[in-house]
Amino acid sequence: MTEDNNKKTEKIQKINGVRGMNDLLPAEALQWAHLEHALRDLTRAYGYEFLRTPIVEATAVFQRGIGEVTDIVEKEMYSFEDRLNGEQLTLRPEGTAAVVRAVIENNLLYEGPKRLWYTGPMFRHERPQRGRYRQFHQFGIEAMGFAGPDIDAEIILMGQRLWDELGLKGVRLEINSLGQADERTQHRTALVKYFEQHAAQLDEDSQRRLTTNPLRILDSKNPAMQAMIEGAPKLLDFLGVESLQHFNAVQTLLKANNIPCKINPRLVRGLDYYNLTVFEWVTDELGAQGTIAGGGRYDPLIERMGGKSAPACGWAMGMERVLELMKVSGSLPESQPQCDIYILHQGGETLIAAMIIAERLRSAGIDVVLFCPPDGQSASFKSQMKKADASGAAYAVIIGPDELARNEAQIKDLRGSGEQQAVAFDQVLEAVIDALVGSSE
Ligand code: ATP
Ligand code: MG
Repeated sequence: MTEDNNKKTEKIQKINGVRGMNDLLPAEALQWAHLEHALRDLTRAYGYEFLRTPIVEATAVFQRGIGEVTDIVEKEMYSFEDRLNGEQLTLRPEGTAAVVRAVIENNLLYEGPKRLWYTGPMFRHERPQRGRYRQFHQFGIEAMGFAGPDIDAEIILMGQRLWDELGLKGVRLEINSLGQADERTQHRTALVKYFEQHAAQLDEDSQRRLTTNPLRILDSKNPAMQAMIEGAPKLLDFLGVESLQHFNAVQTLLKANNIPCKINPRLVRGLDYYNLTVFEWVTDELGAQGTIAGGGRYDPLIERMGGKSAPACGWAMGMERVLELMKVSGSLPESQPQCDIYILHQGGETLIAAMIIAERLRSAGIDVVLFCPPDGQSASFKSQMKKADASGAAYAVIIGPDELARNEAQIKDLRGSGEQQAVAFDQVLEAVIDALVGSSE
């Protein structure tokens, strides 16, 4: 074996990221920051308070909170046993159950209702594809302790305001009412009867759900079953007066605020804990993963999780899908320069002077990149100037040995005239501020 071959076999294997779990690269960072900024503004505008829960919870939080017979709990959770104490733990697949756990544990509803929001990574073991990942990010709001249709309308208005703010195109609101438990029981009887009459058309998942959770069959994405599902008895026809009143009141408030919506009788949502109002925002622009956000009322959940009974509602949105839709809508923010000022030097004493000036500028709130030679030695001004140009900085500050000898720096306009002026060290800050203010006018 030659020496070269030897080197090849010794080459260290690189380690890749986990499938479906993506890095957020610097090129996308500005877009995420833009979205996060809009979310902070939105939640402030409506008086919602931020809450951060841990990424890992006891598995029971989700089993009880989401429901055993759901896609998430049945097949999508990353669950494991704590090696030290045998506890069953799960990487959170969604936010609501964990927020409810935290609200109960910290007694947050003690002083009355709460408007809350959260954001962060969620984990679901699904087949990765466009808009569907194994680690993805959600933003969600939860309004707890409010029973009326006003809060249902408020959280929907928040969504609409956000889509407008982000410049999203082609988003439709679909809405439905799941009524109360007794109404669903009556509907369920009719539904099971209908599905039994069409048993030959049910896929394996649906046959199982026929006995465990037939409502969820309406949620099936199996194309072969769509026509049959279309003819199934509608839950809306089983709602009593109070449920209908609540549903109508929500629609009246939306209408008064010019929010168009379409009633979709098949909308049942993937989680088990909803009642009354449920809704989704959908788009045709993102292929199969067209739901950007969804939610509804979940009055039974807090009690079911061991808290004192209190009504609640909320929604969650997929941040990756929203960013993708911003891209399609042409509303992503333009890229920003890396800095205002790029500083060039020749190492040694010129580096010392350059670093002092860089710090002085930063203390005044100016964004500065100081050239740093990759070999730790030095580099020609020509190659440094290329980096200064690429940084997007408006001006370069140049300190070579000649400038140093005169206690001066050169300030060079990188975007306009290319003009250069010599400025005494202790005048650099003033001159840079003047130049930046002048160029932004
Ligand atoms: P879907 O029907 O697309 O699986 P879901 O009903 O499971 O969605 P929710 O649990 O309601 O989704 O989560 C709220 C939002 O989070 C969804 O509308 C979607 O935008 C986003 N989302 C859900 N799962 C994923 C995923 N695996 N990757 C990226 N975004 C996701
Ligand atoms: Mg899903």
